[in-house]
Amino acid sequence: MARQTLFANEALTPSGWAQNVRVDIDGEGRIAGVTAGAKPDDVPGEVKVGALLPAPGNAHSHSFQRAMAGLTEYRSQAYDDFWTWRALMYHFVERLTPDDIEAIAAQVQMEMLEAGYAAIGEFHYLHHQPDGTPYDMPGELGARMFAAAAQTGIGYTHLPVLYMRGGMDGRPLSGGQRRFGNTLDQFGTLFEQARERLQDLPADARLGVAPHSLRAVDEDGLSFAARLHRTAPVHIHAAEQTGEVDEALTHLGGRPVAWLLDNMKIDSDWRLVHATQMTDAETAALAASGAGVVVCPITEANLGDGIFEAQQYLSAGGALALGSDSNIRISLSEELRALEHSQRLRDRERAVLATADKSCGRRMLETVAEGGASALGRDAGRIEPGALADLLALDTASSTLAGLSGDRLLDTWIFAAGDHLVSDVWAAGRHVVKDGRHIKHDAIAARFNKVMLRLRSEL
Ligand code: ZN
Repeated sequence: MARQTLFANEALTPSGWAQNVRVDIDGEGRIAGVTAGAKPDDVPGEVKVGALLPAPGNAHSHSFQRAMAGLTEYRSQAYDDFWTWRALMYHFVERLTPDDIEAIAAQVQMEMLEAGYAAIGEFHYLHHQPDGTPYDMPGELGARMFAAAAQTGIGYTHLPVLYMRGGMDGRPLSGGQRRFGNTLDQFGTLFEQARERLQDLPADARLGVAPHSLRAVDEDGLSFAARLHRTAPVHIHAAEQTGEVDEALTHLGGRPVAWLLDNMKIDSDWRLVHATQMTDAETAALAASGAGVVVCPITEANLGDGIFEAQQYLSAGGALALGSDSNIRISLSEELRALEHSQRLRDRERAVLATADKSCGRRMLETVAEGGASALGRDAGRIEPGALADLLALDTASSTLAGLSGDRLLDTWIFAAGDHLVSDVWAAGRHVVKDGRHIKHDAIAARFNKVMLRLRSEL
């Protein structure tokens, strides 16, 4: 990779907002220098941008679910909840071929990059053919994710999912779940294949693991997953729905988060996805454990999951990342807005996540940039020499942002703007979004559109 130089009118650095900032990126995709008070055009060929921010990673995604976005917004029975959505999702996964899955993943990654995310954590649980038979190469569908990442240039963290059973009572997998299931031996093979194939991606690619949930994985499975040799944390769905809490109380004798804290060595190597159903004691204990939470505000609202206790958790020093989960909407600004708005609606207050010296937008962006990077095993999340150049730039010449700077600019983007103010994105120094569009936008979108026309015609 060639060395690059950017010149930003302003940039959000670990020591606060800085003006006229030159950022040098080395040939390894890391930030080599940050110089405030620089002059534009000092370096020939520099890329000029408006406001430069650390680009967060999107720490929770099931890419294939993008294909069913918008298709489950009606009542299929008198009371429609998460579990009926899940039934429709299972129906849908039975139709996807490896080519479909790769095309959808590339589209999702491109949309994330265009939204301002530099990286993705793909919680990858589609492993087998529709009837449950492994592919000739068991890691076939994981390799399709890597192919998509190679095309889009996104910072990629693979989170292969261990899925063992249909529920905490030990019932077997059925229907759409058959594509997900593995024994521990099978999963070990799949994991090793992923490790080998991941070496074909750029050096910032990472491998974590994802025991799916307490519903789908038993205690042996959790320990097995945690012991695998990884370069990113263990991710698990936890405490998303009240039904899951009830199931844990019946079969495990405790609430999901409390049970995990009591029975697994939960520390900074773990990320709990959702954690929307916690008591105050669980919230405090989870924050103190050093583990992080991945919150997915748009999906959690869409599925009626509940509201994460962000204020209490962050005040207790908890690490927090964002994820887009079902990918019903891929919008970094909207995800942040939904997080703060959920707190306001519950507490009937304003500016809940602001602190004495930082606005809502500033505190949230800094929090999820740092939390997203650590959740994905990336040395990123800050505009500082040595960090990976995961960067996003906002178009400050747009009428929405003109004349604004600092926290007000950030808040206006997050709370008051449309989706198209991200002008540029770098993922580990790869400049993949320019003028608001991914550099391979047309080819990726055309392939995705073809797949979607066929899938929708089969609905
Ligand atoms: Zn999920």
